[in-house]
Amino acid sequence: MARALLKPRAVNDRALNPTLKDLLTLCRMDRTWVRGEGAYLFDEKGRRFLDGYAQYGALALGHNHPAVVAAVSAALEAKEPAMVQPYRAPWAEALAAELVRVAGGGLSHCVFTTSGAETVEAAIKLVRARTGRQVILSAEGSFHGKTMGALAATGQRHHAEGFGPVAPGFVHLPFGDVGALASAFAAHAPAALILEPIQGESGVHLPPPGYLAQARALCTQYGAALILDEVQTGLGRTGKLFAGEGADVLLVAKALGGGVFPLGACLTNAKFWDETFALKHSSTFANNNVACRVGLTVLEQLQSLDTSLTGRHLQAGLATLAARHPSVIAEVRGQGLLGAIELRTMDADAGMFRSYLQHQGLYAYAVASTIAERNGVLVLPTLGGSNVLRVAPPLIVTVEQIDALLAGIGEVCERLARNESDVILRALKAIGPDRVTPRAVRLPLPQKDPGGSFAFLAHYTRAEERVLTDPSLARLTPEELEHYSAFAAELPFGATIRTPTLRSATGATVRGYIVSIGMLPEQMLHRGRKHVEPAIIRGVELAHALGAKVVGLGGFTTPYSRRGQAVLGLGPAITTGNALTAGMAFAATKRVAERRGLALEELEVAVVGARGSVGALVTKLMGRARPKKLLLVGNPSSGTASLEALANGLGCPVELATDTHRLHRCQVIVSASGAGRPVLDTAPLRSGTIICDVARPFDVSARVRSRRDLTVIDGGLVALPDRSLRFGPGNLQGLPAGIQLACLSETMLLALAGTTRHHGIGDDVALAEVDEVMALADRHGFRLAEPPLDLLDVRFRARRSEDIQLEAAR
Ligand code: PLP
Repeated sequence: MARALLKPRAVNDRALNPTLKDLLTLCRMDRTWVRGEGAYLFDEKGRRFLDGYAQYGALALGHNHPAVVAAVSAALEAKEPAMVQPYRAPWAEALAAELVRVAGGGLSHCVFTTSGAETVEAAIKLVRARTGRQVILSAEGSFHGKTMGALAATGQRHHAEGFGPVAPGFVHLPFGDVGALASAFAAHAPAALILEPIQGESGVHLPPPGYLAQARALCTQYGAALILDEVQTGLGRTGKLFAGEGADVLLVAKALGGGVFPLGACLTNAKFWDETFALKHSSTFANNNVACRVGLTVLEQLQSLDTSLTGRHLQAGLATLAARHPSVIAEVRGQGLLGAIELRTMDADAGMFRSYLQHQGLYAYAVASTIAERNGVLVLPTLGGSNVLRVAPPLIVTVEQIDALLAGIGEVCERLARNESDVILRALKAIGPDRVTPRAVRLPLPQKDPGGSFAFLAHYTRAEERVLTDPSLARLTPEELEHYSAFAAELPFGATIRTPTLRSATGATVRGYIVSIGMLPEQMLHRGRKHVEPAIIRGVELAHALGAKVVGLGGFTTPYSRRGQAVLGLGPAITTGNALTAGMAFAATKRVAERRGLALEELEVAVVGARGSVGALVTKLMGRARPKKLLLVGNPSSGTASLEALANGLGCPVELATDTHRLHRCQVIVSASGAGRPVLDTAPLRSGTIICDVARPFDVSARVRSRRDLTVIDGGLVALPDRSLRFGPGNLQGLPAGIQLACLSETMLLALAGTTRHHGIGDDVALAEVDEVMALADRHGFRLAEPPLDLLDVRFRARRSEDIQLEAAR
């Protein structure tokens, strides 16, 4: 008893839905409110926040309205019994009578429930029992709750996915389409049509004028019940007590409980009242006397509350916001004190971080958090997984409070319009003195592109690439960039880019996703395989869930998945992309040598990292070209033994080494070490050497590349058939438009070919695979990047952050 009266202190803060908690924490939605009063909530530090979401519209009278407090106190003081079923509950009787009185329209009977979803369940049972018919028509985009029946009525499939068979008997029709409605009535002879007068959770969508009246007429014509689900729109939210009219069955919940009780009501007219339902349907917590006393208080207060001025003020203010920030706000909608701000969809051009948030369905949450953190204003996204912020303050809100609300939202819109994404990073505490490192979180599944057929697992290979692909990060100080790097490293694989459509030389098209992780190679090395391999497996699972038929492994995701072996059997065909990488690197090297008048047969050639997956394939390709001598340099920690098997099958003189000392004898070097550092920097390199650097991070540093007597090119780059194609600002690694990594190119080629086989897996990839993908490349118009590029040089010359910003702005 005494313990319950103390302040709550959880001995284990991982007991209450820890998975959701981690996600909310990532979005900085983990605030604790210690006091609520009117339109304000107060946190533990006493900071005041203006409540613009009112518990998803459930708080009509605000927090702890004095009349509600008085009703509860009076009931408790008088020791009124709250739960007395099946005996008479006088407050429930009084509330039922008042509800049917204020609702009017012939509604005459009522049953109480404890949530919106339960109210919908009651309505489904009632109309089926009454009409003896099964089918219930409902609108696409609708939301009616998350219990099994309500989920079936809900016109947004994703809410029901993963929970087994959906209850049968529901037919979904486009919202607002009278023609479709008329045909469905004729085809199905339904028991009822269930509609929200304004669709709330899907993003506040109003039907076209006349739609509800037509729906009413069709219900009458076919003897079906019109169920209006006013769980969100009812009880004053849209400026009237109820947003619709003419219901046979009217559903209310949310606001009815005064913000302190779960309470809903299913009202019906005598025509649809059913005695079988009446005797069979029940719910233990229904008819709660104290809750119903509060419900009566709510009705009483609402009848003396005029929200016409505040409602108009809010809608006008939202329209002004939209006009002022067209690059951030796509549209505003609403009625009365129910408003919606639809944010523009962020694609890769907004930078990787915002695009990542967008694809994971977290962008609107991040914006809401930013508004809260910066300006003490609370708005929240609707449930539809869209980009919509709901603005639904308590109905007692004042004009001044609405102004403060709009100003708080407007300030963040202004920042975002100026591409100042750092405001989001600061609000999420990803950077700054109070930064926090997020826990590993389970993210919701991104929305699927039905036309996407491949995914490519990518990661940054150098810290600078963060700014290349997210120009707004150029605003951060080096210290903040480091904070961000630590933050990003904790984020799991997520879709970051929905790629543009690539058209092959044959006319075939392909598109997919870049699924990326925020870890840098050194962070992967630091964490080790135990941590990284499971992350890659989840990345491939995500790609599979996104519909990818082919998944390419970029950069370190190849070695950390044991060259693809750890991710086989998860659904998609896997490719390491090594075959095309090796093929293109070899072709580029050969071409540069030939342009110098050098033939490989007359040269001493080296492959550094020869035991790596790409290195081994390049070695085989070089062997086939029969150079004068082939020097294979392997990893010092594994010795030359691991190179011997590779050397045996080659048809040219071979020398093995575990260090780079002998490289001075070679005129051509292909370097693919996977060491994660510039291993050639300490090597003796003779003047005139041609080096093809296939490694990411590079084996040859900028310092060595600046030597004028060397020719350094980046291997494994491909010119796409569409030379304007770009994958976000910076094109992943600072590549020019139309140029792409061979491993990504191979993934697209295999998707174009509709392959179901894995490619380039394991230690011993056959040369035939290289020939196969090189032939595919030829057929689809994927060519060797021309002229051969020195990427670091390209970046240093052309990729200063200002240039990138300019490019992003274009
Ligand atoms: N119906 C509508 C129109 C709603 O907006 C909601 C909730 O947002 C529900 C039903 C479900 O309500 P509850 O979450 O109380 O089950």
